[in-house]
Amino acid sequence: MVSAQGRPAGRNREQINTPSGRGVPYDATMAATAARVARNEELFAEANDRIATLAGLLPPRRLVPFLCECPSAACAEIAELSLGEYAALRLFPNRFAVAASCRTGDRPETLIVERNERFTVVDRIA
Ligand SMILES: [Zn+2]
Repeated sequence: MVSAQGRPAGRNREQINTPSGRGVPYDATMAATAARVARNEELFAEANDRIATLAGLLPPRRLVPFLCECPSAACAEIAELSLGEYAALRLFPNRFAVAASCRTGDRPETLIVERNERFTVVDRIA
């Protein structure tokens, strides 16, 4: 039998431990970086919206070269999506397409939703 006695209810979730002890303390620099990341992703998403509008003139199943929507302003990778895939992505404001060849998309504050040979769909969760 396992007894719950001696463990105060509701206390466990308040403990924030990093198992490796390598946790990085949150500071203003990280906040500024997070804001810049969010801004970059939104700028790329806006640019991609314009590409999608122009691509509306193409046959519907044709793959369209979109800009990688990872946080790096220096990234020049291309993610190929159909217009249907892109439209599904834009239904969620925090969802972005990262090129399969891009390595800056794997960040701790993103959640991978879908990955295929052309692109990775991530949700920004911070
Ligand atoms: Zn990228």
